[in-house]
Amino acid sequence: MSRCYNFCAGPAALPESVLETARDDMLDWHGRGLSLMEMSHRSPEVVGVAQHAEQTLRQLLGISEDYAVLFLQGGASTQFAAVPLNLLGERGRADYVNTGQWSKKAIAEGRRFGEVNVVASSEDTNFSTIPEFGSWQLSSDAAYLHYTPNETIGGVEFFWTPEVAAPLVVDMSSTILSRPINVDDYGVIYAGAQKNIGPAGLTLVIARRDLLGQASAACPTMLDWKVAADNDSMYNTPPTFALYLAALVFDWLVELGGLQAMAEINRRKAARLYAAIDGSSFYANPVEPASRSLMNVPFTLADPELDKLFLQESEKAGLLNLKGHRSVGGMRASLYNAVGEEAVDALIAFMRDFEQRRA
Ligand SMILES: *Cc1c(COP(=O)(O)O)cnc(C)c1O
Repeated sequence: MSRCYNFCAGPAALPESVLETARDDMLDWHGRGLSLMEMSHRSPEVVGVAQHAEQTLRQLLGISEDYAVLFLQGGASTQFAAVPLNLLGERGRADYVNTGQWSKKAIAEGRRFGEVNVVASSEDTNFSTIPEFGSWQLSSDAAYLHYTPNETIGGVEFFWTPEVAAPLVVDMSSTILSRPINVDDYGVIYAGAQKNIGPAGLTLVIARRDLLGQASAACPTMLDWKVAADNDSMYNTPPTFALYLAALVFDWLVELGGLQAMAEINRRKAARLYAAIDGSSFYANPVEPASRSLMNVPFTLADPELDKLFLQESEKAGLLNLKGHRSVGGMRASLYNAVGEEAVDALIAFMRDFEQRRA
């Protein structure tokens, strides 16, 4: 068996040891004579896995009891609707920051439910910057401020937290667990699992408990965070296998030394790749240096005619899923937690070799 290096933006690489454990557990989970997938979600086994996942995640991120941890379905995209349905309340108005394609989707969905004030946008720089906080046109009565700490497509990341009166609501799909954060800075954090948490099909919501219980009358039961919290995320059948895999990923992170250790590895990976891009006139990254994402690194070739060849040859070399998003063009390397340093080194070696042969 040979495994390739996977730079996919999502669903993304999973730690090999996690996949091996899942393989070993597949037919007979812990001697029970059946797989975890075949067990009732009300069984002590599955409830135990869910509780373990929550406890380990609380430990990794430092989540206090002031926050509910919810394991849901529907992806981050469903939360684009759940956020206004749960939080708009009587104010009916929220502030949003537009830093890229995912912000835009959240804004469009928010507009279906209330008044959305776009306080700042970097669209004029083709989303290669983050608007300076001083320029944000904040409302005085917003129910919340929504932003996207890491734009997966444009490759821009916030390395600071806005200080505003309204609760911060953040789509952390592509940055969660990549480095420590201060959960207390936020009202609600949400993320699709398929980048840094586990397989697709699971959605994480971390919500301050005082923000629960205000959902609009029209909010579907399945989108009401209070219902999920009151039922330990088991109002209906949760995605049990995805939850089990996420729990294994959380264990893997703890063993590795937690988020501080993970952050150091991630910083080294990104620094090496950006240095390789900046050190060559053959490759370029469009993002302002202070906002360059640690997780998603878009880069272009000086001659776009060579894009196709680059992709063909990189795939042959065992470097998969480097094609950039159509809105940016070129390439994108996603360096999520499960993408090792050796994968980044192999990519850089390939890029140098390709340049020497084609420049
Ligand atoms: C991947 C991604 C999404 C979409 O997530 P789904 O789980 O597919 O709905 C939303 N926001 C960000 C920042 C993402 O990276």
